[in-house]
Amino acid sequence: ILGPVGLILGVLLTGLVIYIAQRRMSMEGELQAAFDRDEFFVEYQPVIDLRTGRCVGAEALARWRNEEGKLISPNVFIPLAEANGMIQRITTRVMELVVRDAAELLRTDPKLHIAINLSSEDLHTHGVEDRMKELMAGAGMGPGSLMFEITERGLMSPDKARGVLLAVRAGGFRVAIDDFGTGHSSLSYLATYELDFLKIDKMFVDTLGTDAPTSLVTFHIIELARSLGLQMIAEGVETEAQRDILRERGVQYAQGWLFGRPMSIHKLGEFIVQAASTEQPAAT
Ligand code: C2E
Ligand code: MG
Ligand code: MG
Ligand code: MG
Repeated sequence: ILGPVGLILGVLLTGLVIYIAQRRMSMEGELQAAFDRDEFFVEYQPVIDLRTGRCVGAEALARWRNEEGKLISPNVFIPLAEANGMIQRITTRVMELVVRDAAELLRTDPKLHIAINLSSEDLHTHGVEDRMKELMAGAGMGPGSLMFEITERGLMSPDKARGVLLAVRAGGFRVAIDDFGTGHSSLSYLATYELDFLKIDKMFVDTLGTDAPTSLVTFHIIELARSLGLQMIAEGVETEAQRDILRERGVQYAQGWLFGRPMSIHKLGEFIVQAASTEQPAAT
C-alpha cells in the first residue's frame, strides 16, 4: 500500500533536488554574466565615533542588482562566489569601485577610512595588497585610509593567512577582525596577528540591555579586546539603549541602523557633513 505513495514522494523529492541544482547553476551563470553587464555596485554604511557622534568612515558592502532589477543579498552571492572560485574577481571589483567612488571623499578628508571585506580565499593567495596599492596610488590615495575586514573563518588556515596578513599590514593598511565571536577559531590568533580593530558582531550587540545571560559574554569580549589593545567597532546597533551601554563600556565606534543604513557614496558625503554639524564635544 505504501508503494505508490513512496514512488510519488520519491519523484517529488528528485524533482526538488534537480530544481535546486538547476537554480544554483543558473545563478552561477548569472553571476558570471553580472561582470560583463556591470551589475555590481557598492553601498557604504557609516561608522560613528560614539564619543562625538562624528562619522569617521564607512564599510563598503557589495551589492548585485541582476538583469531583472532584483537585488541579490551578499549573504547569497558571496558564499556562491566563494564556492565557485569567483570571489577574487568580486573582491577586485569592489576594490575598483571603492577607489572610483571614494577617492575624492578621502582626499577632502584624509582622516576618513573605508573598510573592505575580504574572504578567506583572498588571504590564501598573495596579491590582494598589491592590487589595492596599485589602485590607490593611481587615485592619489594612501593605504592609511583603507581597512580590510577579515572574518574568523578567514583565519581558519592560520599558516596560509598569516603571510598575506603581514603583507597587508606592512603595506600600511589597517586590519579588522569581523563578526568576532561567531566563528570557531582559537582565541590565540587574536594575540599573534597584529590586528587593529575588533568588530563586535550584531549577535552580541543584540543582547545589550536585555537580561540574556549572553550579555555577560558581550562584556567579556569588550574586556578581551581592550586588554589586547584592540580598538572596537560595534555592529548592528539599532537602539539608543544599545548605543549608551556600548559608550559606557568604552566602545569607541559603532555602525547600525540607528545611525545609518548602507547608502550611496553621494549620500555618505552628505551624511558626514550632517554628522559633523551636530558633533558633540568629546566626553571623557
Ligand atoms: P558584514 O561584513 O558583517 O556586514 C554587516 C551586515 O550587517 C551588512 O549586511 C549590513 O547591511 C548589516 N547591518 C548593518 N547594520 C545593521 C543593523 O543595525 N541591523 C541589521 N539587521 N543589519 C545591519 P549585508 O550588506 O547584507 O552584508 C552581509 C554580509 O555579506 C557581510 O557581513 C559580509 O560578510 C558579506 N559581504 C558584503 N559585501 C562583501 C564584499 O564585498 N566582500 C566579501 N567578501 N563579503 C561581503
Ligand atoms: Mg564586514
Ligand atoms: Mg560583521
Ligand atoms: Mg556579519
